[in-house]
Order: sequence, then structure tokens, then C-alpha cells
Amino acid sequence: MKLYHPSTVEEAVSLLAEDEDARCLAGGATLVAMMNADLIAPSALISLDAIESLKGISTDLDGGAVVGAMTRHASIAEATGLDGGQNIVARAARVIGHPAIRNMGTIGGSIAHADFAADYPAALVAADAVIQVIGPAGRREIRARDFFVDYMETALGPGEMVGSVRLPAGPADAVSAYEKYARVDGDFATVSVAIVLSEPGSQCNHARLSVGACAPVPLWSEETDAILSDNNLNDDAITAACDILIAAADPVDDFRGSGDYRLALIPVLVRRAIASARTGEGGKA
Ligand SMILES: Cc1cc2nc3c(=O)[nH]c(=O)nc-3n(C[C@H](O)[C@H](O)[C@H](O)COP(=O)(O)OP(=O)(O)OC[C@H]3O[C@@H](n4cnc5c(N)ncnc54)[C@H](O)[C@@H]3O)c2cc1C
Repeated sequence: MKLYHPSTVEEAVSLLAEDEDARCLAGGATLVAMMNADLIAPSALISLDAIESLKGISTDLDGGAVVGAMTRHASIAEATGLDGGQNIVARAARVIGHPAIRNMGTIGGSIAHADFAADYPAALVAADAVIQVIGPAGRREIRARDFFVDYMETALGPGEMVGSVRLPAGPADAVSAYEKYARVDGDFATVSVAIVLSEPGSQCNHARLSVGACAPVPLWSEETDAILSDNNLNDDAITAACDILIAAADPVDDFRGSGDYRLALIPVLVRRAIASARTGEGGKA
């Protein structure tokens, strides 16, 4: 197996184009474990570690935060410049695995791997994030809600890699919460709920709700968000929104919980998330 250390994204993309069995290597948190378990055997690994432009968080001219694909979970968890709704991604990063995983894993590796129970997918949908992709045909952008396609399947095309994740500025007064229910600290979610909302003068004018680990991809619907904000997040609206998401869910039965248990957790965690966003607490694992 070949191991490459490109120092630019252009070099990495051209190496990916040369060999369809080559894989990007980010932190190796998942990829190396899968290789050790003989689940995959790439012909080449393209380490992204020497590409400085893929690391860190910057702000663009529109106030969006641009998070490089090679930014570790620990850096995102501690980021101070994420405002309003952008902060939900830091909240999700704080409850990923345990410190060793947060120091090793990256946002690009996590979303490219697209585990249905991972923490970023629902948070990125709630933040209305855009995934910036680089490939043989150049650069393109995919909204987070369209990026996750199926179990461990994304909208990345052949030879494409994740370059960065853009978190739009959103409403200035937005607050957020990420509620993760896991069997034990450090585990993947049994169910997770991400919400970004804005209530200037106690009148809700923006709500974006997404549920993780209850389907192959994060649950989200325009109708749900409209019901929540048009009805000022009242209890009937929350029930109606949860009913829509529960109807759209397709949960697995696995060692983290039965499908029925997961469905029962949705309204509990949605109410908890709304309450903790309003108090500024922002959710807890
Ligand atoms: C014990 C343990 C506990 C964990 N707990 C959680 C948890 O609670 N919540 C959670 O969300 N996750 C959890 N994870 C997963 C962790 O978040 C990893 O960060 C994530 O799986 C990706 O790892 P990585 O960034 O090191 O990528 P790698 O392992 O290096 O790569 C993963 C995949 O992504 C591809 N890839 C990497 N970077 C790119 C890129 N820029 N563009 C295209 N493809 C790319 C690789 O080719 C590979 O297919 C856990 C993992 C472990 C081992």
C-alpha cells in the first residue's frame, strides 16, 4: 500500500484521480480501525495532514465561519469565534467520543464517513451548513441537508474530497442546543436533536430542527420548521413537529436501542433542546 503526503489540495485531488481505490487519511480514527479489522484495504492512503489550508476556522466576508476539513473535534469544541447558530457545531463537537477521539478525529473525516449516529450531521443541518467540496472538476458546494444520502453514503462524487464546511452567519440573536442521548459517555448517539432558533422580543422568527440517529440521514423538514416558528414554539406546535419527524423516521433496532425506543426519545429530546436553547445552557450528553 502506498502512503502519500501532499502539501496542497490540488496535489491530493490529483492523487485521488489517479487511483480509484485510494482513500484520504484524516485523523485515522475510523479509517485505521476499519483497516485493522480487514473491513477495507485501500491501495493507497493520501494523508491530508500536511495541507495547512485544510486546518482551522476562519471568517468570510459575509460573517460565515469556514471550518477546514482537517480541523480536529477538540479545536471546534473550544472555538470561541462561532456566533449564534454556528455554535451548535461546537456543542456537537464537545460530546463526540472522549478526549482521545476529539484530539484525533476531524470534521471532514467524520462527515465523509457519514455514520448515521455521528454527531455533526444533525448539527450541520440545523446550522444550514454548506459542504465545500474539491474534485477533478473543481470546487462545488452542497448543502448539509443534501450531503448525507444514505447509510455511510454522501453526495461526494468520484475523486472528490471535503475541503471545508461553511456555517452561515444566520440571525444575529440565534441560540442553539444539541441534545445527545447515549448509553454511556463517549458512545455514539442513540438519538440526538439539534436546534437553532431565534426569538427576538419573545416572538420566534427562525427555527431549524434536525434529529440524528433515527434514519440513514438526519431528519429535517421545511414544514416542521415553519410549524415551530409560525406558532411561536408552543406545545401543540412542538407535538405536531415531532409527529412529522417521527413519521419520516426509519430507525434501526440495534444494541443502542430499539427503533420504538428511538422514536419515543424524539419528543423528549426536542422539548429538552428547546428549553436548553432558551436558557442558554445549550444541551448536554
Ligand atoms: C471509540 C470511538 C468513539 C467515537 N465516538 C464518536 C461519537 O460519539 N460521535 C461521533 O460523531 N463520532 C464518534 N467517533 C468517530 C470520530 O468522530 C471520527 O472523527 C470520525 O469517524 C472520522 O475520523 P477521522 O476524522 O480520523 O477520519 P479518518 O478515520 O481518517 O477517515 C474516515 C473516512 O473519511 C474519509 N475522509 C477523511 N477525510 C476526508 C476528506 N477531507 N474528504 C473526503 N474523505 C475523507 C477517509 O478516506 C475515510 O473513508 C468515534 C470513533 C471512535 C474510534
